[in-house]
Amino acid sequence: MTSVELRDSILHHLKYSLGKDAEHAVTYDWRMALSLAVRDRITDPWFDATRASYAGQHKRVYYLSMEFLIGRLLQDAIVNLGLLETAQSAFDEIGLPLVDVLSNEPDAALGNGGLGRLAACFIESLSSLGVPAMGYGIRYEHGLFKQSFQDGKQIEAPEDWLQQTHAWEFERPESTYHIGFGGTVTEKNGRSIWEPEDGLIAQAFDTPVIGWKGNWANTLRLWSARPTQIFDLDQFNSGDYIAASAPETLARTISRVLYPDDTTPQGKELRLKQEFFFTAASLRDALRRFDTEYDDLRMLPKKVAFQLNDTHPAIAGPELVRILCDERGMKMEDAITTARGCLAYTNHTLLPEALERWSVDLMGRLLPRHVQIIEQIDAAHAKEKPKRTVTALENGEVKMGELAFIMGHKVNGVSALHTDLMKQTVFKDLHELHPDRIVNQTNGVTPRRWVLGANPRLSGLITDVLGDGWVADLEQLKGLEPHIDDAGFLDRFAAAKRANKTDLVDWVKETHDLDLDPDAMFDVQIKRMHEYKRQHLNILEAIALWQEIRDNPTGNWTPRVKIFGGKAAPGYVFAKEIIHLINDVAAVLNADPVTSKYLKVVFLPNYNVTMAERLIPASDLSEQISTAGKEASGTGNMKFALNGAPTIGTLDGANVEIREHVGAENFFLFGMTAPEVDERRLLGDHAAQAIAADPRLARALDAVRGDVFSTGDAGRHAVIADNLSTHDYFVVCSDFTDYWRAQREVDAVYADQNKWMHMAALNTARSGWFSSDRSMRGYLADIWNAGSALPEK
Ligand SMILES: *Cc1c(COP(=O)(O)O)cnc(C)c1O
Repeated sequence: MTSVELRDSILHHLKYSLGKDAEHAVTYDWRMALSLAVRDRITDPWFDATRASYAGQHKRVYYLSMEFLIGRLLQDAIVNLGLLETAQSAFDEIGLPLVDVLSNEPDAALGNGGLGRLAACFIESLSSLGVPAMGYGIRYEHGLFKQSFQDGKQIEAPEDWLQQTHAWEFERPESTYHIGFGGTVTEKNGRSIWEPEDGLIAQAFDTPVIGWKGNWANTLRLWSARPTQIFDLDQFNSGDYIAASAPETLARTISRVLYPDDTTPQGKELRLKQEFFFTAASLRDALRRFDTEYDDLRMLPKKVAFQLNDTHPAIAGPELVRILCDERGMKMEDAITTARGCLAYTNHTLLPEALERWSVDLMGRLLPRHVQIIEQIDAAHAKEKPKRTVTALENGEVKMGELAFIMGHKVNGVSALHTDLMKQTVFKDLHELHPDRIVNQTNGVTPRRWVLGANPRLSGLITDVLGDGWVADLEQLKGLEPHIDDAGFLDRFAAAKRANKTDLVDWVKETHDLDLDPDAMFDVQIKRMHEYKRQHLNILEAIALWQEIRDNPTGNWTPRVKIFGGKAAPGYVFAKEIIHLINDVAAVLNADPVTSKYLKVVFLPNYNVTMAERLIPASDLSEQISTAGKEASGTGNMKFALNGAPTIGTLDGANVEIREHVGAENFFLFGMTAPEVDERRLLGDHAAQAIAADPRLARALDAVRGDVFSTGDAGRHAVIADNLSTHDYFVVCSDFTDYWRAQREVDAVYADQNKWMHMAALNTARSGWFSSDRSMRGYLADIWNAGSALPEK
């Protein structure tokens, strides 16, 4: 496509789709027109992919996820279609900077963090690999809340991404399913029949997801809830308008908002309804498709794979059994075996508070037949393992992890360490019963968005050296290694980083009126706020460093800017305290005339995918400092390494594998290992001991406890100091001293820019394994037994 053709298509949509005259069009109109013009280019490959999937009778992969943190889609689509330069020229002619048009798009935050972003990376990789696949989720009307700060405290505001028309989706009024809740189970001729009392309609909205080079496109199908009946006409006619519209309001509530809790599920009825709503609709949809092609249900495991992203869709097990048995007449045991052949489950966390459980009372009220089926699943499992068994239903609760494990033919962890710990802890007993069921699939990120799109300067350099094959085969980045010492390579690498940093400095100045020095080290921790992620360890180190610089202002300090970003769940009080502390520390440090040229702290509000794309290419140092054993994998860590930011981190999650790939000498390791953490915790007074042994830590904690960062409100942050000095479950104090040591090593290396850039470039060259294409190939081979529908090249 030429830029003239693209421009014509944009002008066509501006006029005929948006009803706007170019003279009066605002940025929004141009962005919509460009999106529709680009969407036109996706439609044919999308139809072709659908046709090829049917024609080849390929096995289909269905990725069920409560969250898809997709962010903006326009630039990604343009990049994958190879239209970036074309779009640039088209807008040069129109006379509007393309960046302004691209940044007009709202960031679709239909997820909380890593889990939702993983789903988005996977669905893009499946398209790039040409695998017939579909993502199934919920079309939340309101995604993750917007975060701002008032006097340093987090303020939440509702997110409203659908305020403007969503340019990418196709509404499917004909693709609807009736989803029932409640009611009774009756027996007829030896069959159980569930007769739900309430119900609502799940309606599909499709977003095409185009893969690299536009060779294949899959669908992200999100369900929206609507009532079976718009309003009660009798009530309306009798004048009670509010009551008349009650059923509508109630039904729409199901897809109204995303639960903002990352890792801690709330046992709320609405949440269980959301889970069943999207899972049931997705299964019905997949079975309808299967029925158009095949007439033998025993073929199901050969033709269909359902991947459960965490336990949120784990009700798929009993629901699929119910459909096969109650509706399609399969014998219960065959139904269980067939369902298991299709289902697999990804575990995302070992935190005990994060494992979903539903009371049998609640589940029985909403899904009476499913509770019966879960009992039968347990009974069948007990028959299969008569010596000793593990059940999903226990003590009046349904344990969704156990249910997903028992109903999955494979269960995977998301990093090597996490998978090992799964076998030793949460699923120890089940692993002993089914030693072949647990497999590892280390997470990955898509190089199209996280390198090519987000970091055009680095990508340009890589492509100059290697050609563009690396984009679809990221391990080719290894080919950079022999060039690192070529004349000029490191200079160009450093220049790209420096220019990215300058862009960030300009943006921070413009949006937050803060002055940052692009020559300072940009030390970045961006992720959800959680005690296990230990943002408080990072800020304690900043406080200690500030105190040390004040003691010795003429010392040889390496200038640093500590950048934070991340949202706290609205109900997670302690995480909000940490945000408040970081903001208060920032205010004091940034205003200090003596130290601020060496150390600044910035907390950027409203961290999201778009901000990650801006920050990561401009980062020097990646903070991955979770308590060992607590971060299942992390994917932020991979984005940083790929973009040439070495990690300071613990041996946790995928950090372990990153360190193996980039080399121990290119990774700043500190802290206890997972077994050491467990052992240390047995010492009742581990925090007190650590504080007594490290005067820097003691002094920093005193500052937190006192009024140094809480002028006029002394003791405002004492809760944090008290928590850390007493039980300190996440062993912040015990890791502090080694963290400090590692940070001084970082300072020393950064002061030698040649050495630093060498290390940074090796991080890029050796991180190609962390592509989500590699993850998807692993799932295809080890779990789904499926493959690409594209001809081999
Ligand atoms: C990658 C990403 C995450 C996950 O980050 P972790 O550091 O792995 O927790 C969370 N949120 C956004 C917006 C991301 O892009």
